[in-house]
Amino acid sequence: IDRSRNAPPDLLRVRGARVHNLRDLDVDLPHRALVVVTGVSGSGKSSLVHGTVYAEAQRRHLQPLSAFTRRLVGGSMRPDVDSIAGVCAAVAVAQTRAATNPRSTVGTATNTHDHLRSLFAVSGSPDGSAGVPEMTARAFSFNSSAHACPTCEGLGTSLHGDPALVVDDPSRSLRDGVLRPWRDRRTTVEHELSLRFAESLGADPDRPWSSLDPGVRHRMLHEKGAELRAELTIRGQARVRDTRYVGVLPWLALSLRDASGEAARARATAFMSVSVCPDCRGGRLSPAQLSVLVAGRNIADVCRMEIADALAWTDEVAAATAGDPRAALGVAEIRGRLDDLVRVGVGYLTLDRPVPTLSGGEAQRVRLATHLGMEMFGLMYVFDEPSAGLHPRDTGRLLDALCSLRDQGNTVLVVEHDLDVIAAADWVIEIGPGPGVHGGRLIHSGPAAELASVAESVTAPYLSAPNGAGARPRSTEDPGWTFAGFTGAEGNNLRSVSVRFPMNAMTCVTGVSGAGKSSLVTHVLEPALAAAAGADDRPAPRCSSVSGLEGVTGLVTVGQAPIGRTPRSNAVTYLGVFDRLRKMFAATPEAAEAGLGPGDFSFNNAGGRCPACEGAGVVQVEMFFLPDVELPCETCDGARFSREPLRARVRGLDISEVLGLTAERAAEVFSDVKGVSGPLRSLVDVGLGYLLLGQPATTLSGGEAQRLKLARELSGDTVPGTVYLLDEPTYGLHAADVARLNTVLRRLVERGGTVVAVTHHAAVMVAADWIVELGDEGGAGGGKVVSQGVPARVARQDTHTGRVLARWL
Ligand code: ADP
Ligand code: ADP
Ligand code: ZN
Ligand code: ZN
Repeated sequence: IDRSRNAPPDLLRVRGARVHNLRDLDVDLPHRALVVVTGVSGSGKSSLVHGTVYAEAQRRHLQPLSAFTRRLVGGSMRPDVDSIAGVCAAVAVAQTRAATNPRSTVGTATNTHDHLRSLFAVSGSPDGSAGVPEMTARAFSFNSSAHACPTCEGLGTSLHGDPALVVDDPSRSLRDGVLRPWRDRRTTVEHELSLRFAESLGADPDRPWSSLDPGVRHRMLHEKGAELRAELTIRGQARVRDTRYVGVLPWLALSLRDASGEAARARATAFMSVSVCPDCRGGRLSPAQLSVLVAGRNIADVCRMEIADALAWTDEVAAATAGDPRAALGVAEIRGRLDDLVRVGVGYLTLDRPVPTLSGGEAQRVRLATHLGMEMFGLMYVFDEPSAGLHPRDTGRLLDALCSLRDQGNTVLVVEHDLDVIAAADWVIEIGPGPGVHGGRLIHSGPAAELASVAESVTAPYLSAPNGAGARPRSTEDPGWTFAGFTGAEGNNLRSVSVRFPMNAMTCVTGVSGAGKSSLVTHVLEPALAAAAGADDRPAPRCSSVSGLEGVTGLVTVGQAPIGRTPRSNAVTYLGVFDRLRKMFAATPEAAEAGLGPGDFSFNNAGGRCPACEGAGVVQVEMFFLPDVELPCETCDGARFSREPLRARVRGLDISEVLGLTAERAAEVFSDVKGVSGPLRSLVDVGLGYLLLGQPATTLSGGEAQRLKLARELSGDTVPGTVYLLDEPTYGLHAADVARLNTVLRRLVERGGTVVAVTHHAAVMVAADWIVELGDEGGAGGGKVVSQGVPARVARQDTHTGRVLARWL
């Protein structure tokens, strides 16, 4: 028998890939290996990994589904590639928080909870006082209505109006809007009613809130519904009505219940806090189920422990149930899952942590642990920057986990920029050399060690000297900065910390994953800075004092949230350049002849856009049980406009051709056009020169979206006193791109801005003026400031970040 015919292929062979910017790319990659694909941002890594290899694997997987589906998907989903051989089933381990169901927890997502439930059913001992519990695995599920806590229906938490958020400044009077939810224009009626109700209680609505009788204040907040005959002045008209006054806290609950959209929900929840369910105290189960103990703990206790502590509990269980083979099996399964979570670096999480509250990187690592636990083989796993959000201290553990997945007999294909991950890969593919039209070629395919001899590689110089970015420490001491200061900062694991950072300078907030960086930013810095900049719709910062923010004039949060939801928004609409371009087209003789105005060159008016796709260039086809598919519009062939407007030409190009230019080329074509060349040059400055002007914002990666936001900030007039808050700005950036990012951030500071970035990236930390390091570990072991100061000073500390900086400085 010739067994070789059935052996799995050793290579995945891609021939003639032309997806997006790929230039007839040929590449072979080894199976059952850790393969890292790298290259500068926009070079074509995703186009190869997702657009070509993964898309083809998916297509072949879906093809047998049904003739109907096949016809719809047809050739369109087939990636533009001559051939791919050696494809196996592929799994993309996404960064996104796909599960937004609050019932999905780290425990349920990794199946650890299933094994825990079985263990409790087999080995639990009820204490008897809380009734007779049912002892099946299902009976320990908080998704079973018969066994869940009846108060919170198994959620473990309840959301309620928070008096501390509702009243942020007790020296204000009712009339002056002390009740924040009723300060805006939408709630004039509620505001008026509250004044009348106060009067009916004999209170003066013009006196400071703090001076009102406590009983009055309580009713203003908590009143469930009091009869009130009130004369209201609404839009200048006096009306008398019999009505009811509902206190602001129950009113918030009603508003949330009736909220129709995201915005309305957000308006209500801004003044609400999540608190633990008073009955099950977060245990999610009925009292009878919670009375069942294994080694002294109920199932909710175990889910509340940090994973590393839950591992210690399994030792006690093993000892207590020695000799019981069913318990031994359960304990082994649970240990396996918990070990995997610790290995991927999230041992600081708890099993009851809802998946929707995880960061993108944490969610990806939890999924990685889940896949490790499934022990599948013969698959291809695809990861996007799994090191994102991970402190360099933890990269080694992540690598071990990726290697285990490989050792189980899988191909692990990773898009990565982290130099330690690249160095440790079995095989490195570099795409490049530049972004967009300057990239799309194979620069290297082989062992990492051979990269050094590849002249065109932009990665090689950084592998030999990580500080190839040329980052130099800026300040060795305080040049006389003024500082913003925060004391008693709290939120999640923060333990009443004090932090400070210099204004008109650049600060990095660092620390291992779970240390409390985002908590500090979201619960303290962001709300305090927003308030200093004049916003009055944010919750009060969770700290005891704030100082030094007098000079703050504005706050710009540059996150990775997508920029537009419709394919009609793109870089030029976002930068406000498109209006100017449309006017230029409307001013051409061709337009005058056909009677076309600027509106006819817009996607948002029925005038000149293609009627079939309404200017999107593509049409969405609903696939019912599959994600929607985008097909190019047949009417305009992707040109997005109808025939008339396409006759008008500016600088020899029609409007569709202009939208097809890269930002770099367009900056040359329109170099003399005021209001156009500046913003386009900022696109080049932030490293997005390769972007096509009309590329739908919906196709931008998180990192690209973030840099587009930075470009908009650079192209406007920076108002001195603006604070820029950035969340992991190096996401998606190759080491070579990071140098450019540093220049951009520095420019914001030179223009009078203040930059505060959450990042672990050594090259960014080295270039910063100030470091705030949280730690020393994640979760309960973190939440403290372990060092802060100029980088050179932090480098001398024996902390996780100090050690990384010391290597660089
Ligand atoms: P990388 O993953 O290396 O950052 P990509 O493969 O995402 O790069 O992008 C390579 C090039 O293809 C870039 O010029 C990018 O703007 C372009 N591109 C990516 N997605 C699309 C798309 N959906 N439509 C058109 N161009 C795209
Ligand atoms: P970092 O940004 O440094 O990674 P975070 O501020 O996200 O850390 O998290 C600090 C701690 O707070 C961690 O233990 C994390 O699990 C916990 N935490 C963060 N967000 C939430 C949340 N929404 N609910 C419960 N715990 C949270
Ligand atoms: Zn409950
Ligand atoms: Zn069309």
